[in-house]
Amino acid sequence: MKLIFLGPPGAGKGTIADLAAPALGLPHISTGDLFRAAVKDETPLGLKVKGILASGGLVPDELTIALVEERLAAPDARSGWILDGFPRTIPQAEALERLAPADKAVNFEVADEVVIGRLSTRRVCRACGKIYNVRNMRPKQEGVCDACGGEVYTRDDDKESSIKTRLENYRKQTAPLIDWYGSRGKLLTIGGEGGAEAVFAAFRAALGLNK
Ligand code: AMP
Repeated sequence: MKLIFLGPPGAGKGTIADLAAPALGLPHISTGDLFRAAVKDETPLGLKVKGILASGGLVPDELTIALVEERLAAPDARSGWILDGFPRTIPQAEALERLAPADKAVNFEVADEVVIGRLSTRRVCRACGKIYNVRNMRPKQEGVCDACGGEVYTRDDDKESSIKTRLENYRKQTAPLIDWYGSRGKLLTIGGEGGAEAVFAAFRAALGLNK
């Protein structure tokens, strides 16, 4: 199964992908995680995109599509995947359609106030990308990832000024993808405002996985 997760930053795409990927036996491919790994490792790509990520801007389509093309060519991505954070623009969606068309685009609907609240309290593991929230999904030991022992930190782009830019970019460049996938009969929309378990249950129901 080839799935795209759509929705604003903080909609829960990464959290639900972390639950869904092992349940469905699919790789969870997050372009944000791939870019953050490149920045951390100071690769040529990482050096190019570091400032863009910190400001909350979008990486140019060319670079992003090349990154995804390479990742989708890996053996674990042959029979399916969950793409979290890609596509984010119409040209990216068109490129994916040529590379490997998705079966469904799952749109997580969440109001702006909820997104802003979630992002300002979100924490992430620097090593494995596992997502936490200081309000309701804390790691067992403060600052330490339950899954890998890595450092749990606040992303540079989860600061107030970047959150605003990311929401604006989402509205302008990514939200049009909802109709784009809708008109192709691939859109599933689920409410994303509940806790992780409730949203995951809605996701399973929308995909008919509970039968
Ligand atoms: P995310 O972890 O999905 O919130 O992504 C973090 C950042 O990585 C974004 O704010 C962008 O700067 C960059 N990024 C991730 N995915 C894409 C994409 N599909 N197109 C452009 N930039 C992206």
